[in-house]
Amino acid sequence: MEETRILQADDAGIAGAARLLRQGGLVAFPTETVYGLGGDARDDRAVARIFDAKGRPRFNPLIAHLPDLAKAEELALFDDRARTLAAEFWPGPLTLVLPLREGTGLSALVTAGLPTVALRVPAHPVARALLRAFGGPLAAPSANPSGRVSPTRAAHVMAGLSGRIEAVVDGGPCAVGVESTILGFDPDGGPRLLRPGGVALEALEAALGRPLAIGPAGPETETETGPRPNAPGQLASHYAPAAPVRLEARAAGTGEILVGFGPVKGDLTLSATGDLVEAAAQLFHILREADHLAGPQGAIAFAPIPEAGLGRAINDRLRRAAAPRP
Ligand code: AMP
Ligand code: MG
Repeated sequence: MEETRILQADDAGIAGAARLLRQGGLVAFPTETVYGLGGDARDDRAVARIFDAKGRPRFNPLIAHLPDLAKAEELALFDDRARTLAAEFWPGPLTLVLPLREGTGLSALVTAGLPTVALRVPAHPVARALLRAFGGPLAAPSANPSGRVSPTRAAHVMAGLSGRIEAVVDGGPCAVGVESTILGFDPDGGPRLLRPGGVALEALEAALGRPLAIGPAGPETETETGPRPNAPGQLASHYAPAAPVRLEARAAGTGEILVGFGPVKGDLTLSATGDLVEAAAQLFHILREADHLAGPQGAIAFAPIPEAGLGRAINDRLRRAAAPRP
């Protein structure tokens, strides 16, 4: 791709950034916490490119950023408590994990196939202006290569991602510098702090009028770089097909649906041309489609995917799908 453009945080720069995003481009922008790497959250390919640009080795779910509560309610189901929190802390550094509505058009890569979605309305005026100009949800993890320190200045973004994204909107240094607080609800309805961040635990407890459970709900947790205690994102709840899954397949066995890649033709293909960004963009759709085609008696076989670039995240996801079930 071409050089990464540095856009000024004025009307022309914001309009240019929104145009790039509408074309499926990636644009980093300031929020009050850190710089986010934005892409259209409804565009599978744009979201796949976020993982590629960051070099993330796994498809952990991303936060969808919105201009206001009304837009957030189009994506997720808010109950009274969620609305109370939104009214008190949005715009601001709070992310709410809520039940995903059906038919939102959100990319399955944003939710990692989960039935919940992480939502945030940032307070930074440049982020708000960009979200209004763009008009849709932006998936936006921190704008740094995976495993590196989060960026709080446009120059940090350029140091890590120059040449890998279309543009960065330079809005000066970020004020908070730590990530957003993530709050979710347990199946029994109890609120849970999934990640500490810019909004204090005590402020959330005061607003809810009750203490928060702390840490991930399940025993198995992960981050973008590997397993870690007290981090959000439950391994067990990630979408897994019902049918057994076999990897490194070059031909279909009896009763198997073969998912091809590149030269290995299948009943379905992740990418006929061997394009890893396309394969990542297709992955969650293909998992569901193959599961559907395999039916209750069948199985799924996946062609080999190269263990490089986005192929590492794809293989990570496929290895989980193929792992023995409890
Ligand atoms: P980042 O994109 O680096 O800001 O990180 C986003 C964080 O939100 C990750 O740690 C995710 O695991 C977490 N997250 C996003 N969506 C969900 C969800 N549906 N359930 C639980 N955690 C989530
Ligand atoms: Mg990060």
